[in-house]
Amino acid sequence: MSLRSLSTIVFLVVFVSYAAAEDIKLQANGESQWYRGNMHTHSLWSDGDDYPEMIAAWYKEHGYSFNVFTDHNVLLRGERWIDVEKNKGGKVAFDKLTAKFDSEWVQTRTKDERLQVRLKNFDQIFDRLAIPQKFLLIQGEEITDGYKNMPVHMCVTNTTELLPPLHGESIVEVMQQNINAAISRRERTGEKSLVHLNHPNFHYAITAEQLMQVIGENFFEVYNGHPTVNDSGDDTHPSTSRMWDIINTWRLAKLDLPLMYGLATDDGHAYHRTKPGDGAQPGRGWVMVLAKTLTPDALVTALEAGQFYSSSGVSLTRVAVTDGRLSVTVAADADTDYRIDFIGTRKGFDDTTVPAVDDQEKAKRHSLRYSSDVGMVLQSTTGSSGVYQFTGDELYVRAIVTSSRLHSNPSELGDFQQAWIQPVVPNTP
Ligand SMILES: [Zn+2]
Ligand SMILES: [Zn+2]
Repeated sequence: MSLRSLSTIVFLVVFVSYAAAEDIKLQANGESQWYRGNMHTHSLWSDGDDYPEMIAAWYKEHGYSFNVFTDHNVLLRGERWIDVEKNKGGKVAFDKLTAKFDSEWVQTRTKDERLQVRLKNFDQIFDRLAIPQKFLLIQGEEITDGYKNMPVHMCVTNTTELLPPLHGESIVEVMQQNINAAISRRERTGEKSLVHLNHPNFHYAITAEQLMQVIGENFFEVYNGHPTVNDSGDDTHPSTSRMWDIINTWRLAKLDLPLMYGLATDDGHAYHRTKPGDGAQPGRGWVMVLAKTLTPDALVTALEAGQFYSSSGVSLTRVAVTDGRLSVTVAADADTDYRIDFIGTRKGFDDTTVPAVDDQEKAKRHSLRYSSDVGMVLQSTTGSSGVYQFTGDELYVRAIVTSSRLHSNPSELGDFQQAWIQPVVPNTP
């Protein structure tokens, strides 16, 4: 073989492996488009305060492409009658329902001298409100489990079978048992369902060390719009954003597990409040999924491929990993400033940890404290676009865009609008 043809082969091999492993381009084009969706919703089927068709209509009228119903341990199925007044939404919810939907749709009856209304099933709501390729409703569930008064909740997107909580002898076992069951069921039914861990800081139930080790759990809520879930942590508990970096650093450097992706969701329960910040109102956090078509399968496939970003107000036009660079382009609003932070952990990071509190028993229920090498800001850029050049020694890099605009209806006072770009593992060519 001549030297020339050998070098051609070497060039081709290097080029092909480099291109195949590294290129990511998230941008709407003729083939794919962005779909905005919420993956965590409660209705009167569990502890939400509105009728599911009203909630579906809310998302449809507010620019969403899809919404997933995730009531606690229940699917929107079967015959369920509730007292018109004695429920979380009460008369207010019923009056709004009857004003929006005709009397043929709203089924009522009188039982024991009380007026009751029948909750609509998922299929009925879907048939009434879905629009092909415009608005999709997905059946899900919030598997609502726990361990010793500590809530362990996991949302399933796209399931036609109920996944009952399976419990366990530790927080980790509870998570692992439920995820195993969901994966097994997916293997049996072929139904593309996705499980994500909800609000780890709710009751500060789940530590970064516990979550990082759950095999098969590759999604969690970096943002949950419920005001009581402690997204930003406190003096002795890391924020969900900090947990994300701890988890991914350890998964990649120590545990040989894949990246965990971060979702933004509403966890809506309160649909009749009007004061900003009051209760778990809808519309606070969502995902933007780049998919080829608006079906549950295509959305889950795209999510699993990392083809999405999460948002609490900031929109992006493009995220790309090309030529050894991660670039982010914001769909900028007028008179708004943006800061783009590129965050990651370098190989050879300081891996020392210390307990968050002195009391040894209490310390077990807190995430450890990690060095500032873990999830450090590698570069900070102002403006509506930013480019980070990989040096090759990063375990992963993610980006977060923060707007100068405050969230109009925040779960935590003073929150700015943000977008969370999913972590990527740079490929060293
Ligand atoms: Zn929950
Ligand atoms: Zn919930």
